[in-house]
Amino acid sequence: MTAYDPNNIFAKILRGELPSYKVYEDDKAFAFLDIMPRAPGHTLVLPKAPARNILDVPTGDLAHVATIAQKVAKAQMNVFGADGVTVQQFNESAGGQVVFHLHVHVIPRKSGVAMKPPASEKEKPDVLAEHAKKLAAALS
Ligand code: AMP
Repeated sequence: MTAYDPNNIFAKILRGELPSYKVYEDDKAFAFLDIMPRAPGHTLVLPKAPARNILDVPTGDLAHVATIAQKVAKAQMNVFGADGVTVQQFNESAGGQVVFHLHVHVIPRKSGVAMKPPASEKEKPDVLAEHAKKLAAALS
């Protein structure tokens, strides 16, 4: 498998070199809004430690990311009035992965509303800021 590239865009976000709409952080995990959400509130949960994807992540980090993804999902149900939550995670190009730092997509869903295609439309900054503020408050 290809080695972890420390210059991937999410590594830069984790180092604070690029901005993000942060919703949660602890010593081992970081979560922020996807800027091209498939539905309002679409959140990405990452381990802070370098990991390309599920194929190289230490099991402890993976378990912690899953725990935080659950916490985010529960908060999204309230904050976005969701009827359900879709959780996705892609590995290697063949598996649909585009950014090569492990991340779990947590996407609030409304009954009868289809998700937008991946990376189809960039959300307005003020909308992302408002959603991040509400979700972060629910997760604090
Ligand atoms: P994938 O690697 O297939 O799971 O997809 C990467 C995801 O990252 C896509 O949903 C993109 O919309 C999202 N994305 C790309 N760049 C950024 C960024 N700077 N901030 C937040 N999300 C991003």
